[in-house]
Amino acid sequence: MTMNIILGGGIAGLSAAYEAKRLGFETVIFESSPTPGGLLNNFTVDGFRFDSAVHLSFAEEREVREVFDRSDYHRHEPEAVNWDTEQWLRHPVQNNLYPLQASEKVELISGLVNAPPSGDIRNYEDWLIQQYGEPIARRWPMVYTEKYWTLPANQLGTDWVGARVRRADLREVLQGAFSEDTPHGFYAKEMRYPKQGGYRSFIKPMIDEARVIANHEVVRIDVNNRHVYFANGEVTSFDRLISTLPLPELIALMDDVPDDIRQTAASLFATSVDLISVGFSKPNVSPTLWFYIYDRSILAARGYSPNWKSPDAAPEGCSSIQFEIYSSPARPLTHSIEDLKANTRDGIKKMGLADDADILFLHHKRLKYGNVVFDLGMEARRDRVKDYVESCGIALAGRFGEWAYLWSNQSMMSGINAARKIFSPAPPASVAP
Ligand SMILES: Cc1cc2nc3c(=O)[nH]c(=O)nc-3n(C[C@H](O)[C@H](O)[C@H](O)COP(=O)(O)OP(=O)(O)OC[C@H]3O[C@@H](n4cnc5c(N)ncnc54)[C@H](O)[C@@H]3O)c2cc1C
Repeated sequence: MTMNIILGGGIAGLSAAYEAKRLGFETVIFESSPTPGGLLNNFTVDGFRFDSAVHLSFAEEREVREVFDRSDYHRHEPEAVNWDTEQWLRHPVQNNLYPLQASEKVELISGLVNAPPSGDIRNYEDWLIQQYGEPIARRWPMVYTEKYWTLPANQLGTDWVGARVRRADLREVLQGAFSEDTPHGFYAKEMRYPKQGGYRSFIKPMIDEARVIANHEVVRIDVNNRHVYFANGEVTSFDRLISTLPLPELIALMDDVPDDIRQTAASLFATSVDLISVGFSKPNVSPTLWFYIYDRSILAARGYSPNWKSPDAAPEGCSSIQFEIYSSPARPLTHSIEDLKANTRDGIKKMGLADDADILFLHHKRLKYGNVVFDLGMEARRDRVKDYVESCGIALAGRFGEWAYLWSNQSMMSGINAARKIFSPAPPASVAP
C-alpha cells in the first residue's frame, strides 16, 4: 500500500492533507502532541480561554477563506496603541506624535526630514534610519526590534519586512503631530476572529477531515530506506513525505546528512515566546484589541485581549490580556517564571491597566518556536538547507518547515502548495510528432 505521510499537525500539515485529499490522495499526519492544531491551539485557565499568542486573521486567499469562513466570526478594526515609557500613543507611533512635547516633536520630525537619502541598505537599522530618520528609529522601532527579534537592528536583514512595517510619510507624520485625528494605518483593513472556540475553530473543518496519529514524536528519518521512527518505538515506511517540522530539527533527525548542511542548519535559530496570560475580575482592562510595549522596564513586547477578540473567551464581567515575552539563543531568557509574572504584574500597574486586586491569576506557558530570526545572511543559509532536503525527495511546508515569517493563512497556502507539488499527476508523456 502506498503510504503518504505528513509530519506535524499544525495548519500547514492539515492543509497539505486537505489538499492531497482533493487531489485524490490519502495521507496520514503524525503529530507529537496529543491534539492537532500546533500554534493555533488554545488552553483554558479558570474559565478564561487563551490562544497561543495573538492570532487574528487577515487572510485574503480564496483557499483559506473557503475553510476559515465556515466559522461565524467577529470583524475587528485593526486599532492598536503603544506604551512609550510614561504614556500611551496611538499606532503607528510616528503618525501619532500629538501628545508629545513640542521640543520632542521638533527633534523627531527634523530627524525624518534629514533622513539619509535612499542608498545602500546593509541591515534593518539602515532601513529604519532611512525610513524614519535617526531620532524616531532609535526611540521606537529599534527598541521594539530588540524586544521582539532579540537582536539589535544592525544584526537583522530586511527581506522579512514587506508590508509588515509602516513606511514613514512626512505628511502623515505632520498630520499626527498637529492633530489627534489620524487613520489607523495598519496593513490589514479588518481582523477576523471566530465567535466561538478560539482561533482553532477556523481550522476545524480540516481537523475533522484529517487522519491524525497523535502522540507520535518523530525521532529519526532514514531517507534511503524511506522509514520514519517515533519516540514510542514505532516505525512507518513512506513513499511521499511532507515535513512541517522545524527545519533545523528535521536535519538533526535525518540520517546521512553532509556535515556542512548539518552545520548550516544548526546556525538557524528562532525566538521562543513566554506567554503570561492574565485574568481580571473587571471588564475592559485592555486599552485596545492589542498593544505594543516600548518601555524596556517591561519585559513583554506586546499584549492583546482574548475577550476583545471574542467575548466567549472570558467569564461575564471579567476580561483578560496575554503578554508575549521573547527570547532566543542570541538572548537567552535569564528570568525565572516567577520573575516573568512579577514583571508583568508591575507592568500592568505601570501602564495603568489594573490594580493588584483586579488580577485573578497570572499563568505562564512557553512556546518553543515563535518567529524564525532573520539574522544577516539567514536566507542564503536556509535556502541551502532547504535545497538539500528537497533533493532527498522531502517536501517542506509551514512556518518552520519553510523557515519563513508566515502568518497562518500563508502557512496554510504553504501546505496546499507542498501537496500540489508532490501529489500532482505526472504530465502526460509527450507524443512524438
Ligand atoms: C507570537 C505569534 C503570533 C502570531 N500571530 C498570528 C496572527 O495574528 N495571525 C496569523 O494569521 N498568524 C499568526 N501567527 C502565525 C501562525 O501561528 C503560524 O503561521 C502557523 O500557526 C504555523 O503553522 P505550522 O503548521 O507551519 O506550524 P506549527 O503550528 O508549529 O505546527 C507544527 C507541528 O509539528 C509538530 N511537531 C514538531 N516537532 C515534531 C516531531 N518531532 N514529531 C511530530 N510532530 C512534531 C508540532 O507539535 C506542531 O503541531 C503567529 C505566530 C506567533 C508565534
